[in-house]
Amino acid sequence: MDTAKITQNITTELEQLKKYTSTPEKGITRFPFTQEAKEAANYLAQLMTEVGLKVRTDNTGSIIGRLEGKSSETIMLGSHYDSVKHGGAYDGIAGVICAIEVARLLRENNNTLSYSLEIIATNDEEGARFNTGLFTGKVLLGQLTVDDIKNQFDAQGISVYDAMKSYGLQPDEIAEHTRNDIKAFLEIHIEQGPVLEYHGAQLGIVQVIVGIKRAKITIRGRADHAGTMPMNMRQDALEQASKVISKISDRARLFPNSVATVGYLEVKPNIMNIVPSEVNFAVEIRGTDEDSIMSQYYALLADLDQMSHASGLTYTAENLLFTSPVKMNETIMNILEASCIERGYSYMQLPSGAGHDAQIFGEQIPAAMLFVPSIGGRSHCPEEKSEPKDLAVATIVAYDAILKIANSL
Ligand SMILES: [Zn+2]
Repeated sequence: MDTAKITQNITTELEQLKKYTSTPEKGITRFPFTQEAKEAANYLAQLMTEVGLKVRTDNTGSIIGRLEGKSSETIMLGSHYDSVKHGGAYDGIAGVICAIEVARLLRENNNTLSYSLEIIATNDEEGARFNTGLFTGKVLLGQLTVDDIKNQFDAQGISVYDAMKSYGLQPDEIAEHTRNDIKAFLEIHIEQGPVLEYHGAQLGIVQVIVGIKRAKITIRGRADHAGTMPMNMRQDALEQASKVISKISDRARLFPNSVATVGYLEVKPNIMNIVPSEVNFAVEIRGTDEDSIMSQYYALLADLDQMSHASGLTYTAENLLFTSPVKMNETIMNILEASCIERGYSYMQLPSGAGHDAQIFGEQIPAAMLFVPSIGGRSHCPEEKSEPKDLAVATIVAYDAILKIANSL
C-alpha cells in the first residue's frame, strides 16, 4: 500500500476544498444550498469521476459515486461536506476525501465487490443553517416530510423547502427518497476531541454515539428592590437557580462517559439592583447509555421540586431534544480492529460525544465509525487540524474493511 501517495492525495484535495467557504479569512463556512456548497459539490463530483465512479447528485444535495458490485445492494462509505460557521477544513470533508481514496485503491487494485459501493458526501449534517442537521441521512431513511422542511428556517427566514427549490432540487419529493438497498454505513471522521492524541493512538474505533437530552428550565420568583427586601422575604430566582445548577456538573462526574452542560442562561430583569424575577437555563446531558442520561435528568427535576417546596418559587421544564445513544455494529468493529492489528496500527475504542451521520444510519442498519486524532482536540474552529498521514491510516483500514464487509454481512 503506497501510504505516501495516499497522504499526498489527501493533503492536496483538502487544500483545494479550503477554497469553498463564504468566510475565507475566518475558517470554513459552507452552509447547505449555497454557492460555496455547489462549488465544493462540483469539485467532489469531479474527483469521484476521476477515480472511476459513476457519479450522481441526489435530491438532498449529496454527491454519490457508485462502484457496481455483483449485487445491487449497497455499502455506503462517506461523511458530510457542509460545515458549521467559521469551522475547520477537516470536519466531515476529511472523511469524504478518505472515502474517495478508498474507491481509488479499490479501482487500482481491480477489486471486485459482492455488494455495490457508494461513496457519499452528505449534505446539511451540521444543521448550522437551519438548526436541524443529519439532513441526507434522515431523508434516505425516510424520516422527513414536506411539512417538516416547510417549517425549518434559517436566520433570514428562508425555509429548507425554499432553499432546496432555489438550489434546483425537488422538495415536494422529499419523502420519496427512502433507500432500502443500504446494507451497511461506514464513516471516517476526525475525533473533534483530545482523547486519541492523549493516548497516542493513530486511530479510534467508535463504540457508541452518545445520546442527548436537552431541556429548558424556567424558575419564577419575584422582582423586588435589592436594598429594601430582607433576605428572608425575597424570592430570588437566580439564587435558587444557582443552587440547582451547581449540582449538575458534579452529578455528571459520577457517571462514566457522561457530560452535562448549562451553556445558556437568561436572567430577568438582569438589572444590578433588582432581585431577579426569572431565570431560564438550558441543560444538555450526553451519555453512552440512556439510563445514566435520564437518571441525571430526573435528579435535576427532584432538585427543582425540592427547591420549589422549600422556597415557594415555581418552575417549568420543557423538553427540547432527546436522542438515544446508538451502538455501532460489532461485526464491523471487529473487522476494523483486525485490520489495525494486521497492519500494526495503534488504535483504541472510544465513544463519540458528538452526533454524526453514522448515528442516523446506525439506528436502522449496521454502521461503524473510524476516528482520526484531532491535534490539540480542536474542532469547530479555524485551528482544527488532523495529520494527513493519520487520515491515510484510516483510509487503509476502511479499504480493508470494505473488502471484508462485502463478504461477511
Ligand atoms: Zn462532522
